[in-house]
Amino acid sequence: MPISDIEIVTPPETEDAPQPLFSELGLSAPIQQAIEEMGYRHPTPIQAQAIPYVLMGRDVLGVAQTGTGKTASFTLPMLEILSGSRARARMPRSLILEPTRELALQVAENFVNYGKHLKLTHALLIGGESMAEQKEVLNRGVDVLIATPGRLIDLFERGWLLLTQTKLLVIDEADRMLDMGFIPDIEKIVSMLSPLRQTLFFSATMAPEIRRLADMFLHNPKEITVSRPSSVASTIETGLVIVEEDDKRRALRKLLRESDMQNAIVFCNRKRDVDVLCKSLIKHGFSAGALHGDLPQSVRFSTLEAFKSGELKILVCSDIAARGIDIGGLSHVFNFDLPFHAEDYVHRIGRTGRAGRTGHAYSLATPYEQPLAEAIEKLTGKPITRLEVKGIDQAEWSDEPRPRGRKRGAKPAEQRTAAPAAPAPRKPAAESRKAATPAAPPPARRAAAPAATPAREDHGNDRVQTGFGGDIPAFMLLPRRTTPVVPAPEDENRSD
Ligand code: AMP
Repeated sequence: MPISDIEIVTPPETEDAPQPLFSELGLSAPIQQAIEEMGYRHPTPIQAQAIPYVLMGRDVLGVAQTGTGKTASFTLPMLEILSGSRARARMPRSLILEPTRELALQVAENFVNYGKHLKLTHALLIGGESMAEQKEVLNRGVDVLIATPGRLIDLFERGWLLLTQTKLLVIDEADRMLDMGFIPDIEKIVSMLSPLRQTLFFSATMAPEIRRLADMFLHNPKEITVSRPSSVASTIETGLVIVEEDDKRRALRKLLRESDMQNAIVFCNRKRDVDVLCKSLIKHGFSAGALHGDLPQSVRFSTLEAFKSGELKILVCSDIAARGIDIGGLSHVFNFDLPFHAEDYVHRIGRTGRAGRTGHAYSLATPYEQPLAEAIEKLTGKPITRLEVKGIDQAEWSDEPRPRGRKRGAKPAEQRTAAPAAPAPRKPAAESRKAATPAAPPPARRAAAPAATPAREDHGNDRVQTGFGGDIPAFMLLPRRTTPVVPAPEDENRSD
């Protein structure tokens, strides 16, 4: 189906159902006033369900995806609980753990907004910021500590804070903490806290490992699931375009131009592709910025601000860098690559279609990525509509494994390494590469190979002749393929 023919799926209206009110949740007047000033009319389901239990002092296990209003579901009652008494130096009264700096920053913004009529203090302990300043804030005494695990442990080990008086703990985005390898840090932090605490634990998915952690950290929790784990919001219209690797950028540009996009996040699996794709989009006249974990924090924040303010229309980013992004009314999400983990798909596309608005999430996949698409469909329980982009060759799923070692934009192996059986007339190198004829079948090439050269042995391949009239330089050789290849996930975001 051409992209322009896609019908927008209107989210089901819930006008008939009686809507809960913030005034029914037990929040005090200053907090209700702040909520009103934020323009919220009704609590979201996770807020309506979680807030009364948090106020009762119960542990809560919240299974909620991004965009459901889960941040307010813990920040609002925390403010209420903390507003009763005052902070003491170096002894924060509550702690919120977030997997990324951006997400921590966003939760801090929430505190400022919701707590504007209260006199509570907060500190943000994230990597990449001055430790001395953080120490100073801690010394003054804070009510709420919002931290990423690494920095918190650093400061704790320097003796700059004590967690014995921290009686309220929030572990947010637990599934992401798990993905990022933060669980040992979390376990360490929890062991520093009093067992007599209230714990709120949120995760978008409830994999067995997450359940195990919940059992370990929570005491008789009230479990709240606001939508089926791993589900995709019904307000998001999804589509999948199968294209050859070499057509991906062109297909993306067409999608960006033809899909009535107001602002979009484009996800790549690898940090290096974020940069390359962003440059390519800028070259083609798009207003784009890049966000990934290798960029200095100042650049990340300023790019994010430029995107939030509408100065940039497209944000090309990696998974972790995008975690903290909460853009009201984001119209589109594009997956330049299908994510290696199906759960990431849910997180990625959850950036659009928020708060009842319609969102669009289009993904590009190469013919070799059927297993990734199937894993997503299995997890979400929803098929992704196959789309055709006008002017781009529609590819089909391939049972063949992806040729290993092939770089983006590179010609298929047979074209790169092709050598005519008979020696070809010598051409200038660039021209030869371009004009490479289709490969002679491998057996013929093998038959033509003389005794293996060291370079050939290194790669486990046979001797191949090129249009250059000699051996292929070793760096151009494809390693021998042994297994079907679904690309291994890079530990791309660990640096975040
Ligand atoms: P979250 O799921 O916490 O990332 O929140 C997603 C977005 O919903 C944020 O932009 C919030 O400001 C917004 N939001 C949270 N609660 C409400 C509410 N009750 N009504 C309208 N918007 C809300």
